[in-house]
Amino acid sequence: MSLKVLMGYVSVAVLAAIPAHAEWVSRVTDGIMGTRITVELWSEDRPKAEAAIDALLDEMRHIDESMSTYKPTSEVSLVNAKAADGPLHISKELFDLLVKAKEYSVITDGAFDITYASVGYLYNFPKHVRPDEAQIAKALPAVDYRHVILDAKSQTVQFSQKGVRIDLGGIAKGYSVDCGIEVLKARGFTRAYVSAGGDSRIIGDRFGKPWMVGIRDPRKGEGEVIASIPLVDAAISTSGDYERFFDEGGVRYHHIIDPHTGHSASKVRSATVIGPYATRTDGLSKTAFVLGPEKAMEIYNRIDDIDAIIVKLDGTVIYSKGMQRGKATPPPPK
Ligand code: ADP
Ligand code: MG
Repeated sequence: MSLKVLMGYVSVAVLAAIPAHAEWVSRVTDGIMGTRITVELWSEDRPKAEAAIDALLDEMRHIDESMSTYKPTSEVSLVNAKAADGPLHISKELFDLLVKAKEYSVITDGAFDITYASVGYLYNFPKHVRPDEAQIAKALPAVDYRHVILDAKSQTVQFSQKGVRIDLGGIAKGYSVDCGIEVLKARGFTRAYVSAGGDSRIIGDRFGKPWMVGIRDPRKGEGEVIASIPLVDAAISTSGDYERFFDEGGVRYHHIIDPHTGHSASKVRSATVIGPYATRTDGLSKTAFVLGPEKAMEIYNRIDDIDAIIVKLDGTVIYSKGMQRGKATPPPPK
């Protein structure tokens, strides 16, 4: 082999070791779970990155198909139609998520409750439809997470009475973000941001710098933030009363329902929860609306792996213990 050819091999080998074009690849997709999906990841091979994002979106579409109550053929719709008649065998995926939902009901003193839907289905926010007191009173006894009986051995769900409905709208976006992150991890990606509406999760950092995630000012436009939070390997969910609502007679009716009263839960303007998984932060971000800022903060402070930021009705902002000055987590920038 001539020296020239040998040199040629050497230079090819060196070139192959350096990624041809390493870059941040991002994509924004509308229309899955009725929300906007954003993915951003660091990639050394663009076609692989695009294929991973395709797979992530497929996974999210699958979750939407099986968990949406808007789709009459979804597994959750089937549960709502049949589970009051007796134990119904369900997929492992849905069973495991129902177990988690129950856990969140217990730790939030019943503020998070997927059976809110037993009353919740009577609301239609885009159409400004809400139930009257008589309708609420009739439907309310069916709202109680204890009505959902789960049997791990037979992997079945049963409702203890007629009229019970479940809706995973308060947890499914966070869950889909976690599943999306798993798709990326399985393909070897180590730096990524995935969000579905108000639920986001991050893996890795931005080469020595954290990701900055803005918390929207509940009374201003989408770009206006009350704080930017530096995050690495964390999930963050914000629930706001500005998401799906209508105002009538000076009252704001919006999409989080108090399971104890059946009314729209309006005790804060927004609540943000930071934690390890988006399923968890999504499930827990509704608590403040139902229980109010003080009681909710007490609960958030009790849970080891989460932090929280609440915008109260008067516009003041309160932070969980872990985010206050002098504590392990750095304070949010002013
Ligand atoms: P988004 O849907 O934009 O992610 P949230 O995370 O704040 O907003 O979740 C609101 C959704 O949670 C509602 O649209 C509804 O599907 C569901 N939900 C409403 N009230 C409750 C409740 N008390 N417990 C559990 N889920 C709820
Ligand atoms: Mg959410």
